[in-house]
Amino acid sequence: MESKGKNIITLISEIIERRGHESYLGEGLSMREHMLQTAFLAENEGGSDEEIAVALLHDIGHYTDEFPEDSLEKGQNNFHEDCGANILSGFFPETVVEAVRHHVEAKRYLCAVESGYFACLSAASVNSLNVQGGPMSEDEVGKFEKYACKKLSVKVRKWDDAAKVVGMSTPPFSHYVPVLERVLITREK
Ligand code: FE
Repeated sequence: MESKGKNIITLISEIIERRGHESYLGEGLSMREHMLQTAFLAENEGGSDEEIAVALLHDIGHYTDEFPEDSLEKGQNNFHEDCGANILSGFFPETVVEAVRHHVEAKRYLCAVESGYFACLSAASVNSLNVQGGPMSEDEVGKFEKYACKKLSVKVRKWDDAAKVVGMSTPPFSHYVPVLERVLITREK
């Protein structure tokens, strides 16, 4: 299992190396810069290994077409948060997988419950919010608050929102490989 887990880190690393230059959803920076900035913000605030891992990998679902066919089959729709969670499932703990799955919901949640949050969103993020369903309804808020991953997904969401600084320098992906290795599931499957 351990070597299988290391394989997924290598695969993710290669994808980010090869395709990380692609634009981050209408923002002024690349996917690689955004992913590394999110991880860097988590690290700078003393985030745990799991928090840094979610921060680094939350948008990996944008590269679903890079993963083996069985991963694609596990991805049930085109929502990048679900695709990302399905890719990571089986390699990373449930908390990490579910926090990735709910990072878009966390934005919808924060828009509903935290005054001033919406005003901090970038224009591109406001645009995607509308596609993603807008702020949560009261019922959705109640449901979301019961999720075990709520705290982690909300925390990472704020790093995600802040990680859009053009020209910020960060450590490379390789700096975070030991973090990912510590978070990987090592038990026998
Ligand atoms: Fe993001």
